[in-house]
Order: sequence, then structure tokens, then C-alpha cells
Amino acid sequence: MTTVPWRLRCTQTGTEYDGLDRRFYSDTGATLDVVHDLARVGEQVDLATFDARLSSKKRIDRSGVWRFRELILPVEEQWIASKPEGATNLYESSRLASYVGLDWLGLKHEGENPTGSFKDRGMTVAMSMAKRLGADRVACASTGNTSASMAAYAAEAGMRAFVFIPDGKIAYGKLAQALAFGAQTIQIAGDFDKALQLVQEVCDREGVYLLNSVNPFRIEGQKAIGFEMLQDLDWQVPDWIVLPGGNLGNSAALGKGLLEMRELGWIDRLPKIAVVQAQGANPFYTAFQKGEPLVPVQNAETIATAIRIGNPVSWQKSLRGVDASTGIVTEVTDVQILDAKAHVDAAGIGAEPASCATVAGAKRLVSEGVIQPDERVCGILTGHLMKDPDTVVQYHKGEMDALDESTRNAPVRCDATLDAVLGFVN
Ligand SMILES: *Cc1c(COP(=O)(O)O)cnc(C)c1O
Repeated sequence: MTTVPWRLRCTQTGTEYDGLDRRFYSDTGATLDVVHDLARVGEQVDLATFDARLSSKKRIDRSGVWRFRELILPVEEQWIASKPEGATNLYESSRLASYVGLDWLGLKHEGENPTGSFKDRGMTVAMSMAKRLGADRVACASTGNTSASMAAYAAEAGMRAFVFIPDGKIAYGKLAQALAFGAQTIQIAGDFDKALQLVQEVCDREGVYLLNSVNPFRIEGQKAIGFEMLQDLDWQVPDWIVLPGGNLGNSAALGKGLLEMRELGWIDRLPKIAVVQAQGANPFYTAFQKGEPLVPVQNAETIATAIRIGNPVSWQKSLRGVDASTGIVTEVTDVQILDAKAHVDAAGIGAEPASCATVAGAKRLVSEGVIQPDERVCGILTGHLMKDPDTVVQYHKGEMDALDESTRNAPVRCDATLDAVLGFVN
């Protein structure tokens, strides 16, 4: 007998489990999807419902995640742990459109979430499930943003939080958040993939609730980026949505949400999904090129630490959306990421390196003729500029390679006299 309207389904065999079954893998070891009763959702709400909620003062309506709650997680309101999150801006920058080679470019800035990345969208839902399931301890392995987000939501929910981070490979803004929000932070002498393996073992043994994106409720919350983007566009489907891919939870979420919207008849076609990987952490790109199963990359390396992942958990889920939308997976170099970042930053928008893989990837796809200049393209900027200040300062001081020296903006030294200063102003 089921206790809640959603179910968990094995992505391999389709075997279903109760929605409150506290598991992250099926009996065959495959990842799980949350499945909704879409007929029921279609009877409860439509796009006009979501538009009406834009003018509501209720916190769950103001949340860019829970505004779409019938299709995210129809949990009783008492369990919802919301800040609220989402409701981020969609920037239209003609300057960046011309950098990429497009007539028009929209950029959904997920760095404007409460802790500065889209991870808050997944975290609010998974943390609500942690409360619903009676957990008192939560844990994750993280390249940074998941830990920052989990630590903040755990602090508010009064739960103990344990963060496993790869040794020495975390951007300072993110580490600072995990520490400041009071999470027990454990630096593992190994890479992200090792940290993830260890945290899963700890959670299995100790009954700590796991909040990595293998947690299918994270994916449900992240679907809302796509919902909200379409709402920003007054439900007009763009031709492309471009986003970075690391562990591939976010692209999996985007695809799942859009497929559900199409099944509900809320949209009549899918935007093509373009996933952008960093060249040094590109197992999904390679698998897509070859049309073969993913082979993990050992010692993944990129300046974009948020996508520095060699063995992505959600690649099969991500591929479903890419294939269904006849989308593509591409890759960009670190120098291309930094060049795109210099332009995103200089446009006054700003984002962390991984986010700018979006813009670098779109630019590459336009130059290759995969994306046409007159197509409508929306990119996702996944995290805030201030997450990784070291990269910004090193870049502008000339301590990192640049594609275009003119994008540097180094600080200048100057004598403390009016004449000397005026030399720079005039
Ligand atoms: C987590 C993260 C990503 C990668 O998302 P995945 O779901 O792991 O593919 C990209 N950018 C930022 C800023 C992130 O925090």
C-alpha cells in the first residue's frame, strides 16, 4: 500500500518502490527516478496556476521550486524546508549574444539562489524528504556547491551535516560557506569520486541521509530551473537550452522535467539540450561521440572545479533528455571557459568558471553550425561569481593563460599623490 502519491522507479528495469522507501538504488543497483501520477497533476494544475502564484505572497508560491510543487513533490507543507529558493533572473545580454554569435541569448542566473548556486533547488526538496523521513543527520560529497547548500539548509532544519570534500580542490567561497554554516567538513585525501564512494558507505552503515544527486529528490527540485525558465519566456519553448555537465544531475533534471511537461501537454515540443563538459573531465562527451557506454576518466582536471568529475552518477538519466530532444554533448577547454567567463563577468553579470562553460559551449556550437545564429538559445549560469574569487584575481593578474590578453583587467599600483592617480583616470 502506498503512502504518498509519488513512486520510485528503477531506471534499468522499471521496478517500482514506495515513495517513502529510503533507498537510492534499486535491487539491481541502478539509480532511481521519482515518478509522479501525471494524470492527477494535470487535473490539479495548469500553466495558469503557476502564473497566478507569481503574485502570491505565500512563501511556497514565491519559491521558484515549490511554485511548481504538484510536479516536483506533492509532500505535505509541514515538511517543506524552503528559504525560498529560485526566482532567479533571466538576463538578455546583447553583448554576450554577439560574443557567442547569436541574435539573442538568454542566461538564467542560478547563482542568484540563496547560497549562490542551483544546488539550492535540489536541496530544498531533498532536505524536505530528509525531514519527512525523520532523519537527523545528512551528508554529501561535494566539489563545493552541494556542501554549501546542504550546510545552509541543514542549519535551518536543525540537522547535523557532514561534508566530504576532495583534498585541496575546492573553491574558497564554497568551503567558507560549509564551515560558516556549521557543517562538519571532512577533507578526504582523494578525488571527488573517492569522496562520493566513502560518503555512500558511511550513509549505508550509519543511517545518515545522503544528499548527493544520486538522491532522486535532488533531481526533482532541479527540474524547476527549466519550468521557471519557460515561465520567464511566457511558456514559449526556446530552440536550445545549454548547460554545463559534471555529475550530470542537472541536465538529467532538465530533461526529465521537460519530458513531463510535454506529456502533460503543457509544451508541444522539446528544446534541444546541449550539455557542455570541460575537456579534462569529459567522459560524457566521449561516450556521446562514440555512442558507447560511459568510461570514467581517471584524474579529471579542469579549472571549473564544479564539473571536475570523472565518473558522473547520472549519465544515463542525462542521456535520456539529450536523446529525446535530439540535443548534443560538447566539450570546451579551460582557456575557452576562462575567456567566456571574462566576457560574462565584464558584461556585469558574472558567474563561476563552470557556469561559463555554458557560454563557451554555445559559442563553439554556433561556430560549428550546430546552433544557427537566429535560433533562440537559453543558457544556465549555474553558480555565482563570488564562489571562486581566486580564479578571478589570478586571471586578471595574468597568472593564468588567456585566449585574449585584452580581457585582462589587472589592478595597478600607484603613488599616493593626486597627480599619479589622475594619470590613470584621464
Ligand atoms: C554542481 C554544479 C555543476 C554541475 O552540475 P551537475 O549536476 O553535477 O552536472 C555546474 N556548475 C555549478 C556551479 C555547480 O555547482
